[in-house]
Amino acid sequence: MPEVNAYAIDSPTGRYEKTTITRREPGPTEVYFDIAYAGICHSDIHTARGEWGKTLYPLVAGHEIAGVVSKVGSEVTKFKVGDRVGVGCFVDSCGECDMCQDGEEQFCTNRERGTVGTYNAIGRDGEPTAGGYSQAITVEQNYLMHIPDEMSLEHAAPLMCAGITTYSPLKHWGAGPGKKVAVIGLGGLGHVAVQLAAKMGAEVTAFGRTLAKRDDGLKLGATDYVATQDIDAMKKLRNTFDIVVSTISDGVELDTLIGLTRPHGVVVNLGLPSDGKATFSLGRLINGNRVIAGSNIGGIPETQEMLDFCADNDVRPIVEIIPADEINEAYDNVVNSKVRYRYVIDTSTMG
Ligand SMILES: [Zn+2]
Ligand SMILES: [Zn+2]
Repeated sequence: MPEVNAYAIDSPTGRYEKTTITRREPGPTEVYFDIAYAGICHSDIHTARGEWGKTLYPLVAGHEIAGVVSKVGSEVTKFKVGDRVGVGCFVDSCGECDMCQDGEEQFCTNRERGTVGTYNAIGRDGEPTAGGYSQAITVEQNYLMHIPDEMSLEHAAPLMCAGITTYSPLKHWGAGPGKKVAVIGLGGLGHVAVQLAAKMGAEVTAFGRTLAKRDDGLKLGATDYVATQDIDAMKKLRNTFDIVVSTISDGVELDTLIGLTRPHGVVVNLGLPSDGKATFSLGRLINGNRVIAGSNIGGIPETQEMLDFCADNDVRPIVEIIPADEINEAYDNVVNSKVRYRYVIDTSTMG
């Protein structure tokens, strides 16, 4: 079985260190690929630091993965050696339940063999799964995406989570011509959401805590940029938006976000506070038939659709490529909002 270099962390207060892990030989329907780049998602940090319940240590995080196929199983039909591929937040599911059949494998309802996370889960071989902070991975072909020719691997990587997490709710709630979309938070998710909503044809307003990222927001396709701290500006925008996509988990009251929506408008929450709780006024929802919604990544068909949409419409994350020995420092920068806008690990530096 192939041994590959990886970076692992072994406790909530630990640091990532170089190590080796074993990957399984690809089974008949599996693909083995060399990882070129892995994005650093805030979820990696929450998991590595034990902030989201039980973490299986040592942990190799990373669920924004892009690379090139180097081996395929004898029954693989969808990929061949040399194909450029990506993997997102999950690597397996039952494949048979209603959700899996509908291409929403992230919501697999099978109790025995449901959705398997790309890391911090138990895989089909009974071993803990290990993610993209490594040089290769073995994945069942049905959980892989083709990366379009026009897109570089380092740009594709962050889209595997940040892209689908924002594309799915924008599409579901009808972002398009004639619709006004608010994107709250211009971070890893938000800077992709602004581009996607604008390319879908919506009129986009971006919101940051301050105006520090205003120029970036406008360049990415927003027609306006507002500081959430600016009470007067926020008041003026009440009853304005069809869709409010919130990529933050604290800092703005939910009632304030509901107030930004027009009647029949929706607030979609993508951020998850550590206690998982939120409070809001039901009166604000009832008056105007407003909706509060959540959204969690997207299924395999929609993830492929998102990649194709980004390739066709020139939507690209803004990435900062780092060597693997800077993961620990990168984590601190993400937590302190210093990243512009996604760190991507160059796995060739793990050698
Ligand atoms: Zn993620
Ligand atoms: Zn299923």
